Amino acid sequence: MKLELRKTFQFEAAHRLPRLPETHKCSRLHGHSFQVEIAVHGECDPEAGWVMDYADISRAFRPLWEQLDHRYLNEIPGLENPTSENLALWIWQRLKPVLPQLSEVVVAETCTARCVYRGE
Ligand SMILES: [Zn+2]
Repeated sequence: MKLELRKTFQFEAAHRLPRLPETHKCSRLHGHSFQVEIAVHGECDPEAGWVMDYADISRAFRPLWEQLDHRYLNEIPGLENPTSENLALWIWQRLKPVLPQLSEVVVAETCTARCVYRGE
C-alpha cells in the first residue's frame, strides 16, 4: 500500500528578482513568509503502520531551513535569482540525496501563489 506524507515548514526571507525590469514590483527588495511543503511517497510499513516518521522529514529539512530562514536569498549560492521555481529546485537537489522518498517540493510565496516541483 503506497501512501504520501506531507509536512509544511515556514520561513521568513527577503529577496528580489534581478532579471525582471526595474518597473516590476518583484525587482524591488521585499520579503515573504515562505511556506514549503515536503511530500514523501512510499510503502506503508505494515508493522509500524506508517510510511516514515514525520520527525525524519523535519530532520532532513532542518539544515536547509537554517540556510533560508531570515536570510537575503539572493546571497545564497544557487539562489542568485530566487524565484519560487528556482527555490523549489534548490531544495529538491539538496533534499533528495538525504530523503530518497521525496516526491514533491511545494514553495508558496503567498497564500495564493505556489510552485510545485516533482523532479525532472
Ligand atoms: Zn517575492
